[in-house]
Amino acid sequence: MSADQPADVPAFVDLGLRSELVDALATLGYEEPTPIQAEAIPPFIQGRDLLGQAATGTGKTAAFALPILERMEKDRASGAPMALVLVPTRELAMQVSEAIHRYGRPLGARVLPIFGGQPISRQLQALRRGIDVVVATPGRAIDHINRGTLPLDEVEVVVLDEADEMLDMGFAEDIEAILTETPPTRQTVLFSATMPGRINAIAKRHLTDPVRIEIARPTVASGDAPKVRQTAYLVPRSHKAAALGRILDVESPTAAIVFCRTRLEVDELTETMNGRGYRAEALHGGMDQEQRDRVMNRLRAATADLLVATDVAARGLDIDQLTHVVNFDVPSAPESYVHRIGRVGRAGREGVAITLAEPRQHRMLKNIERITKQKIAIEKVPTVADLRTRRMELTRATLEEMILEGGLDPYRTVVETLADEYDVMEVALAAVKLAHESSGAAADEEEIPDIQPRPEGKAWDKDGKGKGAKGKPWDKDKPGAKGDKAGRPARGTSEGMTRLYVAAGRSAGIRPGDLVGAIAGETDLSGRDIGSIEIADRFSLVEVPEGGADQVIEAMKRTTLKGKKVTFRRERYES
Ligand code: AMP
Repeated sequence: MSADQPADVPAFVDLGLRSELVDALATLGYEEPTPIQAEAIPPFIQGRDLLGQAATGTGKTAAFALPILERMEKDRASGAPMALVLVPTRELAMQVSEAIHRYGRPLGARVLPIFGGQPISRQLQALRRGIDVVVATPGRAIDHINRGTLPLDEVEVVVLDEADEMLDMGFAEDIEAILTETPPTRQTVLFSATMPGRINAIAKRHLTDPVRIEIARPTVASGDAPKVRQTAYLVPRSHKAAALGRILDVESPTAAIVFCRTRLEVDELTETMNGRGYRAEALHGGMDQEQRDRVMNRLRAATADLLVATDVAARGLDIDQLTHVVNFDVPSAPESYVHRIGRVGRAGREGVAITLAEPRQHRMLKNIERITKQKIAIEKVPTVADLRTRRMELTRATLEEMILEGGLDPYRTVVETLADEYDVMEVALAAVKLAHESSGAAADEEEIPDIQPRPEGKAWDKDGKGKGAKGKPWDKDKPGAKGDKAGRPARGTSEGMTRLYVAAGRSAGIRPGDLVGAIAGETDLSGRDIGSIEIADRFSLVEVPEGGADQVIEAMKRTTLKGKKVTFRRERYES
């Protein structure tokens, strides 16, 4: 499809990346750089400081990981890190470090995540063996610096990832302290989803003449956005394929295109959907023209009902009967969302756009809404009960169709002989059961967690100013959230929030940052989702969104706070 490819989308090789990295990306199924990658990688490689506004899901990790690896000597001899990435949570530390490891495998890159809650001895051992890139949460990085176990004198690049989250979690001083330990000649790169004044202040102090990159630029005129029913579902990554199957079962599209980010994702999802009884076809840049034509013909002839594709492969495709566009991930830029959904809702036909977002990507949906000036309704993934009801309806409709069609006489003797012995109603019920069970789709009994969006009134920080920019989430001004002077907790809970009781407090050394760090690190919630926090001597109270409370309680069973197992439960009190 190269003929359809707009000239302004560069290939990875055009960004100045070495062949080992370009090959690694091809193996991972990445077909082209995302906008943040296209903009950030060239100046990063040239050694410029960068200030990038980009949220999770835009491909920002690779935007800084690849230039770091580009700069790194292959099979480097020195054991002291040449790059330090600071991230707000342990979950992100693991994620980023896995990503760098994956991209840097052909270069023999040694990457180490360091975060609290993991035995420090393991981290010490790895540091002694030699490391190229350290990905650390600020608190644990400071621990190592104080012990003299994290040598920073060879650091050439420092990345502050999700800087606004780090500030929200109270890491400002730690970040300052860490930066002063690194050589002044270092290159500094800062990524943040929002750009409040505090981020600009850090940038002013620590970045030199930075290149500014903003990915959420409103470049799409609102008139360009097609009118289609737009919905989104917040689903944890591990449940996405099941959720998609269920949503499509209920939506019953005539023909749908599902967009994935990589070739591997396309192949995997195609297989999963075929397993669920869909006739799904894969389409990606790794296929030759003949294979592509075959797929398109099957779609046009309606022998396939689902096309699973990458953006590159689907460019220029025009499929008349398409009713649904599905974003299996939030697209890496709002422009690409608009392109994708522009494939339905043409010429007055009905069109539906469905987006599966991970809870942390909620902010990207807000960006898209702002740019398209259209609402995306967040809906609940159909429950097992919804699905059963829908399947029953289908069975009923099929039977009705069969009655209207006629031609049932050959079966009359079976019913008549059974009716001698059993009630006709019983016979009918058995026949319905048989029809229902043989209708294909395997019963899917697993409940998918229902994640609620951030409550209204706690709007995402749209322009980098406003609510989220001031202070920490736990000292936000919420009615009844403060508690009295005697340390008794306040009884009112903020709207849409649930208060959890945590069986450890000040005397166990718990600070608000520990609770935020543990929750944000172990669940799909981010620091900004967490409401007021109160620390009493023997216990703490923390507000989390109602929809995420069970997930927090479960996740906290598997982790420790200050080295100890701590029970989280819903707060019980008499009102
Ligand atoms: P991030 O915004 O860094 O959290 O990345 C979001 C997801 O996009 C990750 O799963 C990456 O593996 C994936 N990704 C990053 N860059 C690309 C690309 N150029 N093409 C396809 N997928 C990508």
